[in-house]
Amino acid sequence: METLEKTEVKQFDVEAVRKDFPILLKKIHGNPLVYLDNAATTQKPQAVIDSHIDFYLNHNANIHRGVHQLSNESTEAYEDARIKVQKFINAPDPREIIFTRGATESINLVTSTYGRRNIGEGDEIIISTMEHHANIVPWQILCGEKNSVLRIIPIDDNGEIIMDEYVKLLNDKTKFVSVTHVSNTLGTINPVKEIIRLAHERNIPVMIDGAQAVPHMKVDVQDLDCEFYVFSGHKMFGPTGIGVLYGKTKLLEAMPPYQGGGDMIMSVSFEKTTYNEIPNKFEAGTPNISGAIGLGISIDYLNKIDFSLLHKHEKQLLDYTTSKLEEIQGLKIIGKAKNKASVISFILEDINTLDLGIMLDTMGIAVRTGQHCTEPLMTRFGISGTVRASFALYNTIEEAEMFIKDLKRVIKLLQ
Ligand code: PMP
Repeated sequence: METLEKTEVKQFDVEAVRKDFPILLKKIHGNPLVYLDNAATTQKPQAVIDSHIDFYLNHNANIHRGVHQLSNESTEAYEDARIKVQKFINAPDPREIIFTRGATESINLVTSTYGRRNIGEGDEIIISTMEHHANIVPWQILCGEKNSVLRIIPIDDNGEIIMDEYVKLLNDKTKFVSVTHVSNTLGTINPVKEIIRLAHERNIPVMIDGAQAVPHMKVDVQDLDCEFYVFSGHKMFGPTGIGVLYGKTKLLEAMPPYQGGGDMIMSVSFEKTTYNEIPNKFEAGTPNISGAIGLGISIDYLNKIDFSLLHKHEKQLLDYTTSKLEEIQGLKIIGKAKNKASVISFILEDINTLDLGIMLDTMGIAVRTGQHCTEPLMTRFGISGTVRASFALYNTIEEAEMFIKDLKRVIKLLQ
């Protein structure tokens, strides 16, 4: 006799996740908060909030240089966080994890140390049209100092990198490639593994800006084989003011220090100073100790998430919202890549994006409007800004429905 097998479809438990984020209960102008500005910053789970309180209540002391118990506790927690980051991105060695203030500082560290030392007059650096200002301006500063040349990979109308054009840009003068893993404005997930492989065929080092990738997907720096990978804690449910630079040992060891000060030295005299080993060489002064520990806690949190279920959940949010937005007359989605994270940018005929964002706020809907620190990308699409809704693991389909309903109301009011 045949039996009917029940297949259990595992679902992402978004309601359980929401309970971990107390701010989601907040009312905005009397309405439930619908937080769709996750590409700007994410909300924090209770465990991350608690970790700050616990640190200052029970462990606070400066790290690395104390002999007393509290200093040892702080040092241990800080260095534990480094190991959590190492494992999170599958870096081979914790010494390859440098704590910074965020993705911006990580990129500036690379341009002003590796870049200053290795990139010279007439040398070329390749970035893409969809870069955040944080991955444009530091390179422009370097190019201004060194008379080097910034070359830009074009993108197509869907917001995808044109790989043939990238290949054409690679040449003997290319000394560095730096591209974003996921676009904060378009949501495009770039084929970074292939971008890295092509650069490596010519022995060109590659940095990946992972600020928008880490909250959505598993990142494996050994699999990618990039020389540098950067991201920010606050975009992955961790604290602000803490970020990461991953770099391959060989490169980090050969790079000059970024800032001078305490902790980054081996010995100091007025005649000669010698520098500490990595990672300390790049962490001058008292770092953001509680921030690093909080980032470690956000990693513990993400480690409990089933990323394949999360991917399905975020794809459902993306697909539902995209299809509903497409039904709205006069609305145009900017960024239609085949491979997209849960970020949607759009414009509306004859409606100012800022007005729209302000009106949505009165209904409790938090979106971002403007250029999203990607002004050259706006120029590429011939627009001055977009409205951007960006989803994270705690967003629900009901919230997406509320967003669409309120957006339609606002459009009627503004037309
Ligand atoms: N790169 C990308 C793709 C980003 O989205 C951001 C933040 N919007 C940054 C870099 C800069 O991150 P931070 O401001 O945290 O340094």
